[in-house]
Amino acid sequence: MHAPAPTGALRQLVAHARHGDLGAYARQVQRLGGCEQPIRMEGHRLHVHATTGEIVRELVDRDLPAGQLLIRCNNRRATRCATCSEVYRKDTFQLVTAGLNGGKGIGPAVAQHPRVFATFTAPSFGPVHNRPGGGRCRCGHLHPADDPALGTPLDPDRYDYRAAVLWNAHAGALWGRFTTYLRQHLAAAAGIPRSELRHCLKVSYAKVAEYQRRGAIHFHAVIRLDGPDGAEDTPPAWATTELLTDAIRSATRLAEAPGPDLDGRTYAFRFGKQLDIRPIRSADFAGTTELSSRAVAGYIAKYATKGAESATGTVDRPIRNPITDLIGADITDHARQMILTCWRLGARPDLEDLRLRKWAHMLGFRGHFSTKSRAYSVTLGALRQQRADHNEAQARERAAEAGHPLPDLDPDTVLVLSHWRFAGTGLTAAEHFITHGSPPPTTDTTDSRADAEGEPIHA
Ligand SMILES: [Zn+2]
Ligand SMILES: [Zn+2]
Repeated sequence: MHAPAPTGALRQLVAHARHGDLGAYARQVQRLGGCEQPIRMEGHRLHVHATTGEIVRELVDRDLPAGQLLIRCNNRRATRCATCSEVYRKDTFQLVTAGLNGGKGIGPAVAQHPRVFATFTAPSFGPVHNRPGGGRCRCGHLHPADDPALGTPLDPDRYDYRAAVLWNAHAGALWGRFTTYLRQHLAAAAGIPRSELRHCLKVSYAKVAEYQRRGAIHFHAVIRLDGPDGAEDTPPAWATTELLTDAIRSATRLAEAPGPDLDGRTYAFRFGKQLDIRPIRSADFAGTTELSSRAVAGYIAKYATKGAESATGTVDRPIRNPITDLIGADITDHARQMILTCWRLGARPDLEDLRLRKWAHMLGFRGHFSTKSRAYSVTLGALRQQRADHNEAQARERAAEAGHPLPDLDPDTVLVLSHWRFAGTGLTAAEHFITHGSPPPTTDTTDSRADAEGEPIHA
């Protein structure tokens, strides 16, 4: 395949230059901040004065240089949009950090609350190639760290693919059971009835799902004890890090999520035996058994931008047809087996609830990648709103300096009438040229197919 000539892009850019709006076009594209897969919308938004009916501000697609409204994709996955994924990673870092050290509206006293960083693993579905302590695998080889064989089964014919896929599909439910047990164990340790716990203590957490090399979901979580009112409230003196650690251990041991009955076998899911719990020290503390809050926030933010593709290769979007979608895909036979197992099980009416076909590219996991309890800290939505407010304030400043101040939009007197419809995703060749200073690998990267099967939007 030879490199396509950027004639299409040049023709579009020249047309804009003739029309005199090339600068405005460039600014519209640059406001996307480098987003690779913007959402394209057609329609209008009117701000109308509620009593006079006067249109105080209007935004119409045909008045925009691109002829459409372009919105950042906000995709969290690094493989889908490097720029938006980086924004997501930074926001997640801030969110986790605020819950550990304070900030973003949370007082610094939260840093004194007992908190740990815990990693919950998946059980075994059969022996896999690994590097125990960096040493020799049970297959007899010393695998290098980047060996694609790592995490793949020693004996694929005997690996329990059904259980591996069903584990991913039930991991979220198991986490829910775990949190119930955790509260029970904390109450028992304090010698109070379970129903009394919420009057003296709140359990807050932020967790992220990560795929192990073998394609099994495991969880990393910050778990923190607060007073009953959350992050700003001092926990009772008996709520220590040791008590929290013990309660996590026993709750992990006991939590079980019931699974389906398939062909005479009843599935039930528990976490793996390996459980790592470390107290979190503040700021930049560096030690071997305790972690700094900075390191913890960094881990969670990093994992939050990854999907199954980090364990399987390049399949980062829904599978529509396993035969055609997996031909030539750069994935291991093991990942292929996981996906095909999802596809086969997904055909069973008794497993309909698990929607295994829809989530086959996620190896059966359909939960949110990063979640937090309400009291943990600020939300990603709040961080985005802060950024939007900041941008609006800057736009007002620029408009005022240019002598065209924007009208005040008092929500009590101004009505907003919006009508937008989805018109596709991606950048045109010209927009790609503006973003990167080079033509796209294909002449046009827009995709008018609605990406309706995308992952949950994290607000
Ligand atoms: Zn993007
Ligand atoms: Zn091996």
